[in-house]
Amino acid sequence: AKPKVVVIGGGAGGATAARYLARDGAGALDVTLVEANPVYTTCFFSNLYIGGFRDFESLQHGYDKVTAGGVTVITDTATAVDPAARTVTLAGGQVLDYDRLILSPGIDFREGSVPGWSLADAEVMPHAWKAGPQTRLLKSMVEAMPEGGTFAMVAPPNPYRCPPGPYERISMVAHLLKQTNPTAKILILDPKDKYSKQALFEEGWGKHYDGMIDWIGPEFGGGAVEVRPDTMEVVIEGEAQKVDCCNVIPGQMAGQIAAIAGVTDETGWAPVDPGSMKAKLDENIFVLGDSSAQGDMPKSAFSANSQAKVAAMAIRGELTGSKVFPAKYSNTCWSLIAPEDGVKVGASYEPTAEKIASVASFISDTGEDAALRKATYEESLGWYSGITADIFG
Ligand code: FAD
Repeated sequence: AKPKVVVIGGGAGGATAARYLARDGAGALDVTLVEANPVYTTCFFSNLYIGGFRDFESLQHGYDKVTAGGVTVITDTATAVDPAARTVTLAGGQVLDYDRLILSPGIDFREGSVPGWSLADAEVMPHAWKAGPQTRLLKSMVEAMPEGGTFAMVAPPNPYRCPPGPYERISMVAHLLKQTNPTAKILILDPKDKYSKQALFEEGWGKHYDGMIDWIGPEFGGGAVEVRPDTMEVVIEGEAQKVDCCNVIPGQMAGQIAAIAGVTDETGWAPVDPGSMKAKLDENIFVLGDSSAQGDMPKSAFSANSQAKVAAMAIRGELTGSKVFPAKYSNTCWSLIAPEDGVKVGASYEPTAEKIASVASFISDTGEDAALRKATYEESLGWYSGITADIFG
């Protein structure tokens, strides 16, 4: 029988790995992808949906082409992994054997990381940090804000999915409010004293949304915020303030199935070998994307997609004896600040003995002209089309 690879999670990391294994394995491997949802909604560009630059359907991708590429796709949730027997059990009762298992389950939230908030409150104070109904809910809440009302974001502590994402979201909420509710205010309550692309965001907010956005860092109580979903209040240094829309982005950890499989450590993330993405705690399991603790790469779709190709090559090498080349990784994170005002940060990476290390990086400059910012935005549109085709076919 053919060696079996099971992949849990059909997002940026998992679907890429499944497709590459089926394609490059030329039928030598039996590849099964287990994904909880029949349709994947990208977090990437979901902020642009909130800003009114994309429609919701443009974020959605099915698995027909993944299936056509030779992958068996099962729509179900993996609930257990037995590393000794090398089996995965699904909620529907099915048990799958594997020779190698890939986990790319994204993130889950740390209960209790924002006092007063739990996942059960996400209908009132949405996270919208897993895309889908939450994204739509957040946008509708911004649109329903009273004239001159307040939008608050509780920003997450490091490490988290998409470092510039909260600040791109603020830009997009500001853009939306500028059209429909220009006297509204935006509060960012942040446990970090600095954040990704900060100088670029601050410059852009001053230019496009002057006076609208207030960033409250840990020095002024932004790191010890309590929320009260019942009364729509945020409490900063003991002082309660009423808000009209509250986006709580909690602390994060590896998707739960990684802990169930026994590959996470006390940090809540899964340490991996930097040259192959193989879990340090289990030689038959590989962990990709947000769930992995690998070193310098940010938790992004670009990173997950890049890591997936390295892992697919390593697994093919182990199971079929095909040649394995040295790992190379890359990432770019684009952010839209206002119409045609795009910025980016990125790097290329190589494995060292300890971690995946950044070897060359770049970032947009403050003060760039409009033509360059427009070109950067257009580059991001090309990236979205390209990467979704690479992930989903
Ligand atoms: P995911 O893509 O989240 O895939 C995980 C999948 O696993 C999900 O489909 C889930 O349903 C499934 N799953 C989980 N557990 C199970 C289980 N037990 N059984 C079955 N299925 C399971 N990245 C970029 O590169 N560029 C951007 O511009 C960008 N913008 C972003 C904006 C926002 C607002 C956010 C929140 C994120 C953004 N990201 C961006 C980050 C990007 O979305 C993630 O880093 C990326 O999706 C991670 O890929 P992954 O494979 O680790 O997880």
